[in-house]
Amino acid sequence: MLQPTKTNKHFMNLKKSLKPIKKDLLGREKAFITIRQVYSHLSELTNREILDYYHVKNLKELKAHIEHIKHILQQEIENYKEELEKIDTCFCIDSKGEFKYLYTTKKEVEKQIAHIQKTKYIKLDFYACPYHCGWHMHRL
Ligand SMILES: [Zn+2]
Repeated sequence: MLQPTKTNKHFMNLKKSLKPIKKDLLGREKAFITIRQVYSHLSELTNREILDYYHVKNLKELKAHIEHIKHILQQEIENYKEELEKIDTCFCIDSKGEFKYLYTTKKEVEKQIAHIQKTKYIKLDFYACPYHCGWHMHRL
């Protein structure tokens, strides 16, 4: 049976100490891999070419740049959500002076009409809200 030699033991320790470095290297590589996956036009580029593409010198700068982009995207998404909420506010009024319910999808309004016809025997139709991206019901 092989006894662990001094070199062997040394190697084991070295292997252990290399672990965080390896992890760090993988982490670095991951940033480039992600970029290649997300942006198809960069998929063929080397790490160096990717850095050049973003006009950055090193990975640290690249990561900062990515964070900056993420931040902008996040803000855009939040603005977009706000816009959507505004769209959802409808001012259409029915014959009784009440706000009409706005259905956001055609499927939703069709389902509701079918349900009312089945349960209340009332025939209804739907139309696109003239001001917003949605649908309203009206009596036939
Ligand atoms: Zn409306």
